[in-house]
Amino acid sequence: MSRWFSWLDAHPHARITPPEPSPHDRAAMTRALELARAGAAIGEVPVGAVVYRLSTGEIIAEAHNRRESDHDPAAHAELLAIRQGAQRLGDWRLESCALAVTLEPCIMCAGLIVNARLARVVYGAADPRAGACRSLYHVLSDPRLNHRAEVIGGIEADAAGRLLRDFFRALRTSR
Ligand SMILES: [Zn+2]
Repeated sequence: MSRWFSWLDAHPHARITPPEPSPHDRAAMTRALELARAGAAIGEVPVGAVVYRLSTGEIIAEAHNRRESDHDPAAHAELLAIRQGAQRLGDWRLESCALAVTLEPCIMCAGLIVNARLARVVYGAADPRAGACRSLYHVLSDPRLNHRAEVIGGIEADAAGRLLRDFFRALRTSR
């Protein structure tokens, strides 16, 4: 499993040089990392996500991965945070919001980001095996789709990647 991340270690040039993230983006990522740690503590693959207002940074919704707890293949952190955010705002359109997530979103979550009309996605570690924002697909910048989101990758990538590596290492040694 940790193959994803050792690939990144072996290809440092593949790391994305991010455009300057806002202080709101950074604060949201700090919170997303805390959520990822909380997930790891209950045996979930440590990925955390936060939906926040682009203009003020106000956190609307947050979640960590819950696939194991919920026995739900769709219970990715991003999906849970986006659905909760739409419920809280009483609107499925999250065009005034951004998403910070510790790992590059997959195809499912990138599709949801398009459907939810999120304005910006800030992610931590790249995912060469499943990433759908830049690594394998460019779902958020595909001109054929009816919505595009601004993408800032590589924010706190080392911390996010380390959490995942440590999690899978501990899993292997506990077997
Ligand atoms: Zn996903």
